[in-house]
Amino acid sequence: MGTSRVMHRSLRQTPPKAIGGHGMWLFAEDGRKILDASGGAAVSCLGYQHPRVVEAIAKQASKLAYAHTAFFTSEPAEALAEKLVGHEPGGLAYVYFVSGGSEAVEASIKLARQYFVEIGQPQRRHFIARRQSYHGNTLGALSAGGNAWRREPYAPLLSSAFSHVTPAFAYHEKRDQETEAAFVARLAAELEAEFQRLGPDTVAGFIAEPVVGATAGCVPAPEGYFKAVREICSRHGALLILDEVMCGMGRTGTLHAWEQEGISPDIQAIAKGFGGGYQPIGAMLASGRITDAIRDGSGAFQHGHTYLGHPLACAAALEVQRIIDDEQLLDRVKERGHQLEHRLTERFGNHRHVGDIRGRGLFWAIELVADRSSRQPFDPALKLNQKIKAAAFEGGLGCYPAGGTVDGRHGDHVLLAPPYIATSEDIDEIVDRLGKAVDNALKSIGH
Ligand code: PLP
Repeated sequence: MGTSRVMHRSLRQTPPKAIGGHGMWLFAEDGRKILDASGGAAVSCLGYQHPRVVEAIAKQASKLAYAHTAFFTSEPAEALAEKLVGHEPGGLAYVYFVSGGSEAVEASIKLARQYFVEIGQPQRRHFIARRQSYHGNTLGALSAGGNAWRREPYAPLLSSAFSHVTPAFAYHEKRDQETEAAFVARLAAELEAEFQRLGPDTVAGFIAEPVVGATAGCVPAPEGYFKAVREICSRHGALLILDEVMCGMGRTGTLHAWEQEGISPDIQAIAKGFGGGYQPIGAMLASGRITDAIRDGSGAFQHGHTYLGHPLACAAALEVQRIIDDEQLLDRVKERGHQLEHRLTERFGNHRHVGDIRGRGLFWAIELVADRSSRQPFDPALKLNQKIKAAAFEGGLGCYPAGGTVDGRHGDHVLLAPPYIATSEDIDEIVDRLGKAVDNALKSIGH
């Protein structure tokens, strides 16, 4: 193999070349077939090469691939916006189309800031986020995120506008004798105290993932947490920004994860499953109150990128969303989600080195521990999560293991986010293959 000039994720290794895909499966040039149990990084919600999406992209490409949004709108952008927010879900009434999750988060942060400037509250300059979270890799989104190892090398460049509170991560943060309600009350009191420390009228917003994704591994919040957070933000006049880049657009069984929390955000970021990987696309959804204030003020969101509302990206996402409706895939996410939970519990519920199994919908993780009773993680030097990834790939399974689950350094988990089209047999096969991979990886480190 010749040397690749692509700057791959590892500069020491060129990954196998993917040359095709079909449904749940990816095909490599070397003949390997991989059952994709994580849709890449919770992206490919319809699997690969769905003929309707491929055709929608081709059709739009043959009409008009691109027109700059400073001059034109486009048919797919208008139709997709109508589909997403035409009925104003939770008060979200406008959409801003970008090219991925980090851009959606950047836009969300800037819109919140501009809103307060426009309504005469320019002193609102602080954002509160949570530890053990991820909001993207651009500098603003990285500043918001609480993923310690991702932040570390860039710390001197990150904005001091962001501070971080304890995540709603019961497995590690809830005390042994504490009830779930008391845990929620403690987290709410901490958030309230952070508002008071900063000065409540200087806080622009609180940003959180409703179900934490890759950093902590599919962590839903305890009952009542988001209601408490919503109340605190509203009482102090701050905005609630929800990052549903990974957990949204059906992944947890409802189109928006916040639907299951009995609240709605003022601003929301989506990406990944929104376009299912068929095109790079993300979006920011904003409440009518925010867009009205800007319309009545300066008249324009002072932001922008060259590829906003890209017609091909919008055409692809529109078709993905239509298919989710037409094939009633959210029902399927719920049904297969129950099966996945059940099968994971059967396979790993009594496993010596699986401390927690958690998730929602088709978004599940297992957390590996050296010792179940103390929840002691494995030594990070063992790189257990990397070994599981390699063993799974070897066994023809694509999954999404990561490290730093506990604090950005310690802890290992494996995230699963199968495409919504997964059959009952696919779910069984995923759990079988994962079981073998986990046991082989543990064996390789002497367990
Ligand atoms: N926010 C969350 C919750 C994510 O999981 C991610 C990506 O993993 C991002 C933001 C960043 O999205 P992107 O990688 O598309 O820029």
